[in-house]
Amino acid sequence: MLTTVELATFLAFVGGLAVVVLLGLQAWYDRRDALLCDHRRLNSAFSCARCGLTYVRPRRREEATCPRCAWNNARLKF
Ligand SMILES: [Zn+2]
Repeated sequence: MLTTVELATFLAFVGGLAVVVLLGLQAWYDRRDALLCDHRRLNSAFSCARCGLTYVRPRRREEATCPRCAWNNARLKF
């Protein structure tokens, strides 16, 4: 059973659907960018107390061993 729909109603429905899809995509990409930015931002920097090497390790951690001399160093806090 088909019903007739006015062209203006149909265009309003399609336009509203397009707006909802675009807002959904924007929210999805914003969330994805925030997660990626957090992943990149949450690195920990270390400066070796024995050999002086400055290095970075991924994620937030309090201690990491030096790649040059294997000394265990505490995270730099700014
Ligand atoms: Zn070292």
